[in-house]
Amino acid sequence: MKKNDVIVIGSGISGLLSALALSREGKKVVILEKESYIGGVCRSYDVNGYRVDTGPHIITRLENGPLKELMDRYFKIVPEFIPSGKYYVKIGSEIKPFPWSINAWLTFGLLPMTDRLLLMRALFNILYLKNAGKDFSSITLSQILPNKVSITTRRFLDWLCYFMVGTSIENAPISRFVDNKTHHPRTVPYVGKLYDLFIKEGATDQGYPKGGLQSIVSSIVESFPKDRVEIKTNVAVKRIECGERVEGVVTTDDSYDCDTVVYSGFSSDLPHLIDSLPVAYTKNLTSIKRVNSLTIWLGLTKKIFNNYGSEMWVDSDPYAWVIPTSNYDPTLAPKGNQLVGFAFTLPGEYDASTIKKKAFQTIVDNIPDIETHIDMIHYQELIPEKASWGINCGFGDVKTPIKNLYCVGTDTTKRSAGVNRSAYSVLEFLDIMKSDGNL
Ligand SMILES: Cc1cc2nc3c(=O)[nH]c(=O)nc-3n(C[C@H](O)[C@H](O)[C@H](O)COP(=O)(O)OP(=O)(O)OC[C@H]3O[C@@H](n4cnc5c(N)ncnc54)[C@H](O)[C@@H]3O)c2cc1C
Repeated sequence: MKKNDVIVIGSGISGLLSALALSREGKKVVILEKESYIGGVCRSYDVNGYRVDTGPHIITRLENGPLKELMDRYFKIVPEFIPSGKYYVKIGSEIKPFPWSINAWLTFGLLPMTDRLLLMRALFNILYLKNAGKDFSSITLSQILPNKVSITTRRFLDWLCYFMVGTSIENAPISRFVDNKTHHPRTVPYVGKLYDLFIKEGATDQGYPKGGLQSIVSSIVESFPKDRVEIKTNVAVKRIECGERVEGVVTTDDSYDCDTVVYSGFSSDLPHLIDSLPVAYTKNLTSIKRVNSLTIWLGLTKKIFNNYGSEMWVDSDPYAWVIPTSNYDPTLAPKGNQLVGFAFTLPGEYDASTIKKKAFQTIVDNIPDIETHIDMIHYQELIPEKASWGINCGFGDVKTPIKNLYCVGTDTTKRSAGVNRSAYSVLEFLDIMKSDGNL
């Protein structure tokens, strides 16, 4: 049997980016994907004339983030990103742009003035202590929250925690919001943060990929060098064969020898694929907590959402993030219609049919006449991040105890979120491959 250079398990964005980087660095790569499609939770498909994504997405850090770095290094074809516009906060029937700067925060009338001042004081304290070297990775946001803040302010912060960290305010570490771990660290982080606080007018380097998420996947595949990457779908890896080093993989009805395996499935599933992992390593994997989400896509016969950007619904239950994707690219919906994605955060345990009804009711409660304009409705239950970044939650790692077995994906590195977290994991993986002498 011919020995492959690299087997990549899984064709989500982290598997595809790894395959692209390795093939452009001269390796021959085989991707094995258990589903009938590639892209994992970063793809698009058609439903009754609408092109829906796997959940509403805004891609962040397009000017200097890890995805940008990988695009610069390895993409032959780069997707076109449309500016994502503003984030609007909706509380009750009022809606206002997200307050990015101190100036905007001071005039942000959706939250009580006393709360805003208390939070500003708390934030300056944190930044001061952080600059003095205090570690905020095991202190939660709720631990430093002044007792007096209103329920609305608490919900506003809780919303941010769920969507940025995948967990509640009681479990989200402050470090997630104040650490400045870029791939190219700033030299004066404290001054940098303060500069952002005073000057920033909003996120200017975020975008939506024209044509939908699928265009990112297509750009990667079209950038593969000729004859260097083979993709096999409907192939589930059942075992990773290894002694001290990785030897190959076994699928439902085949086996492959290889030098290197890059695993991009759930790190917590690794112990089911390999017998010989040390207990100290697997113990940490058992405390990983996945993030659950529900998306409801609505195709509307009329344009109901007129703001350019997305909406954060702070007092809906469950919390919602709403993106009318056809405002970015009208070709995603039939002419004259609107396509809107409503992403909801879900608890660890939930009953799917109850939560779907509750989430749909939230939409109707917020936009009472919406029901008469619904042309298409589509539900998705997806896992946006394989690990929530909460206190006491386990995390996987890019490097494993087995030589030449590496992991990538959103449960392998504590940096950023979503697609950029996947991209960070791939950059880390490439660095480790180099230091191991494999690249
Ligand atoms: C509702 C929602 C909203 C989101 N919003 C944003 C956003 O605004 N911005 C952003 O950046 N990100 C966002 N994300 C997150 C982002 O899409 C994901 O973090 C990212 O796509 C995860 O990629 P991944 O490669 O780590 O994992 P996955 O996409 O889960 O890929 C893993 C792949 O491995 C395959 N696999 C697993 N085990 C095996 C096996 N044994 N054999 C073969 N194949 C296997 C799986 O089938 C899958 O295809 C959102 C996600 C959702 C669901």
